[in-house]
Amino acid sequence: MVEAISQSFQLLAAEAEGGWDVIIIGGGMVGATAALGLAEQNFKVLLLEQFEPDLAWSDQQPFQVRVSALTRASENILKALGVWQGIESRRCHAFTDMHVWESISDAQVHFSAADIHQPNLGHVVENAVIQAALWERLLKHPLVTLCIGEQVVDLKLTSKWAEVVLKSGGTLKSRLVVGADGAASKTRQLAGIELTSHDYQQCAVVGCVETELSHQNTCWQRYQADGPFAFLAMADNHSSIAWYLPIDKMQWALSLSDEAFAEAITEASAAKLGQVIKVGERAAFPLIRRHANTYIQPHLVLIGDAAHTVHPQAGQGVNLGLLDAAALIDTLTYARQQTPEKDWSRRSVLRRYERWRRGDNVIVQRSMEGFDWLFQQDQTVKNTLRSQILPLADQAAPIKHWLMSQVLKGRDVLPSLAQ
Ligand SMILES: Cc1cc2nc3c(=O)[nH]c(=O)nc-3n(C[C@H](O)[C@H](O)[C@H](O)COP(=O)(O)OP(=O)(O)OC[C@H]3O[C@@H](n4cnc5c(N)ncnc54)[C@H](O)[C@@H]3O)c2cc1C
Repeated sequence: MVEAISQSFQLLAAEAEGGWDVIIIGGGMVGATAALGLAEQNFKVLLLEQFEPDLAWSDQQPFQVRVSALTRASENILKALGVWQGIESRRCHAFTDMHVWESISDAQVHFSAADIHQPNLGHVVENAVIQAALWERLLKHPLVTLCIGEQVVDLKLTSKWAEVVLKSGGTLKSRLVVGADGAASKTRQLAGIELTSHDYQQCAVVGCVETELSHQNTCWQRYQADGPFAFLAMADNHSSIAWYLPIDKMQWALSLSDEAFAEAITEASAAKLGQVIKVGERAAFPLIRRHANTYIQPHLVLIGDAAHTVHPQAGQGVNLGLLDAAALIDTLTYARQQTPEKDWSRRSVLRRYERWRRGDNVIVQRSMEGFDWLFQQDQTVKNTLRSQILPLADQAAPIKHWLMSQVLKGRDVLPSLAQ
């Protein structure tokens, strides 16, 4: 790893004058996917990441705090880029069922992969595993230059190209800059793109726990007065948890002793998997919906959390980001093939990417709002509505099948990598 990075720095010095086709800022799951996919289409890519990813791996290492439930569309993207093998060889867990119920009436809906003749409904994977598998491929790619430990301090967007000014003092030039630097994106700020946001006044407490009973390869989600609680199935009797609480309970949840935390989770899950017998490291994240008012500027686009964040209760954030990356790859490749005499990073091309992705991202954000509204347990009308809707939905096979295929495969016209 270290050797490859220092080679990259030599490359960086050698090519600083020449410029790259694309500079990607942020080498998380989404930025790394975009970098690999664009390089596979013969774009010359520079990937800037402020932190060195940890590529060391041992089967014995404890489960990481951050995980993602990946849809089939995401799995397809990572398979097409030759990354899935690196994920499977480390650690990931397929879940076949999903069980949603609510605390007041105990009304429930059960989704099963068998009902739609699929092997599973998705995979739960540690974020660090996804990033490591991506970087393993990036390190070997001849068209990718990795620049680690560097930050962007300024951007200059001209009518012909973009210039990225680095903290260390250098300036890099490219046809296109891709902001993939997460929810607090510096790229977005430097490009002067405003956000529309909504603070849920909620936090998600996450971590990995071991339970007395098997999760049966099922993801369990219980709606209760404070917010939902979820178990995401991992190896053996281990599950990743997502416990949504009012923001003023965040410090309380983090400060509990392991024993008290295990007890609190057992209670929040109504002991669905018996007692929680062991808890690992935990972390908490305040939840904010954000949407960039535009995804594009001259010679610049935003992807992933830099462009949008959604409430994580349906586990869609990184799945949307990977679709952004795949749609951008399709859009730029098509523009370059169809009109080779024109600039593939021109505004009309970038607009095509934005139109493709914005609608899909808005639908998911709004659906989360709908869930949030329906599951607020402070109003009798909604309580009654839920106790009637959930059993109805559970019995309406066509609705369940449609919902499962939407979540599994994605809602919009899928980019080619995702098909
Ligand atoms: C509690 C919780 C649970 C979630 N569960 C799910 C789930 O089950 N399924 C799902 O699909 N999504 C889930 N999400 C959402 C998902 O985690 C995010 O959507 C995803 O991490 C976004 O990836 P990204 O690559 O866009 O951004 P990030 O993961 O934030 O990566 C950004 C990268 O950019 C780098 N960076 C930042 N600033 C700079 C800079 N100035 N210069 C250079 N590099 C920089 C960072 O170091 C980082 O590596 C969840 C989110 C939360 C909070």
